[in-house]
Amino acid sequence: MKCYICNEQAEKVESGRDADLVDCDACGPYSVSGSALAEMRANVFVFNIRRARDWLQAERAAGEQRPMIHSQLGLWD
Ligand SMILES: [Zn+2]
Repeated sequence: MKCYICNEQAEKVESGRDADLVDCDACGPYSVSGSALAEMRANVFVFNIRRARDWLQAERAAGEQRPMIHSQLGLWD
């Protein structure tokens, strides 16, 4: 698959009804909630890569190994 955030080659670890789990070399491990995925598809959102990675980094610094991206975060333009 392609990373939802940066569009580089990434691995989808798990695809579930509630979330997709993604490992990207550049962005690191993260998950995207099902509602965020649906919203992305419906509205053709594109992630703001810098904002998304900053957010992921902050979450990991706070101890969350695989931060969950959900639709209220506003990580896309
Ligand atoms: Zn990525």
